Amino acid sequence: MNRIEEILEFNKSFVENKDYENYITTKYPNKKIAILSCMDTRLIELLPAALNLKNGDAKIIKNAGGIITHPFGSVIRSLLVAIYELNVEDIMVIGHYDCGMQGLDSEKLVNKMLARQISQDKINMIKYCGVDFKNWLKGFDDAETSVLETVNIIRNHPLIPSDVNVHGFIMDPNTGKLEKL
Ligand SMILES: [Zn+2]
Repeated sequence: MNRIEEILEFNKSFVENKDYENYITTKYPNKKIAILSCMDTRLIELLPAALNLKNGDAKIIKNAGGIITHPFGSVIRSLLVAIYELNVEDIMVIGHYDCGMQGLDSEKLVNKMLARQISQDKINMIKYCGVDFKNWLKGFDDAETSVLETVNIIRNHPLIPSDVNVHGFIMDPNTGKLEKL
């Protein structure tokens, strides 16, 4: 059985056993909080557990590094929906130590694409269309600075109302300890 089949098998019994009953809630976040964080595997359960968040409590938006790569990209769009449609009043940006995006080298990443049979022609074509690989795929040097930059982008965004509070934090990916910036 491959890994996807294993998941499907588990899912079948999850539904049959009505294990979902513990998770029933609505689309509105009970605590009126949205969280932007990293996709790091160590945070899957640790982050909500360490913040005492249960199903239904918060909107959680995740990507590599928990960063905003474009002021009108999908992260800001999600935050706008969270605020205007789902009543979010506080936004927490939570970075973490030892992040995979720290020191990410876009040149090395492109080399890995080439090694996986993505042709140089395609990469050139995308560059020609105006995608600056160096910037688009770059990570960050320092987790604190990255969180503070993200907080500033949200706070100063022309479509984010000033009554929404934006807070920055760093989480220890082993202990879940949250440090306010
Ligand atoms: Zn990370």
